[in-house]
Amino acid sequence: MNSSILQLHNITYSYHSLTGEIPALSDISFSVKQGEFLAIVGPSGCGKSTLLSIIARLLQPEAGTILFQNPNGSLEYPRTGYMLQHDHLLEWRTIFRNVMLGLEIAHQETPENTAYAEKLLADYELYKFKDKHPSELSGGMRQRAALIRTLVMNPDILLLDEPFSALDYQTRLSVSGDIGHIIRSTGKTAILITHDLSEAISLADRIIILSQRPAVVKKELSIHLSKTDNSPLAARSAPEFHHYFNLLWKELSHEK
Ligand code: ADP
Ligand code: MG
Repeated sequence: MNSSILQLHNITYSYHSLTGEIPALSDISFSVKQGEFLAIVGPSGCGKSTLLSIIARLLQPEAGTILFQNPNGSLEYPRTGYMLQHDHLLEWRTIFRNVMLGLEIAHQETPENTAYAEKLLADYELYKFKDKHPSELSGGMRQRAALIRTLVMNPDILLLDEPFSALDYQTRLSVSGDIGHIIRSTGKTAILITHDLSEAISLADRIIILSQRPAVVKKELSIHLSKTDNSPLAARSAPEFHHYFNLLWKELSHEK
């Protein structure tokens, strides 16, 4: 985990509407290392989703530059995969056909890719549900299926925009733990947006705190927890946890 996969330099972005200009991001700079798990927290409406759209190259920054370094050394942009609050699984397709959707659209349903999709389903305990439809699965299983659908495209960077917010608290705890584990074990770089401070501390290597809109980077916090295992509960009961929580809480309560 040494070279950076992504560097943002002085990114600024405003929306333009009939009623005027809405400045969303102001002079945002930070970098993300290969294999790092970064969380971004900030008040609602401060520009977090806008920032992810810029990283995904769906929006062009108004000012500033964004540098990508492909982890395999090639000059191509690293591939980004998106995961959102709603799983957007298609009800009329089975779980397997949902997981294969991106590959099908990209005409990449090769035997290797199909085997990889099956392996991910097996590794993450969804294989026996592969012929079921989304409505037959729990919210947590659906979110795991949505992650697998993203992973089969083999992205270099995973962009997670509040992916657990639609889940109830109990499910959210276990699914965020599962998903954190899947991302770590596949060695992916991840950028997670969340408004749940405990979730950010328990999953991330580093947290970036954004201010009110237009967002600036208020603080960066590296997270080091002495934990016994990788479960979300172990992270939450680590001795350092409350220290980080208080720091984040203090920073964000100035932003209300
Ligand atoms: P967050 O994800 O932090 O809640 P967003 O990045 O979605 O915030 O939005 C930042 C600000 O930009 C908000 O005030 C929002 O209302 C505004 N905004 C977002 N999308 C658009 C758009 N397409 N047109 C105009 N304003 C927008
Ligand atoms: Mg958002």
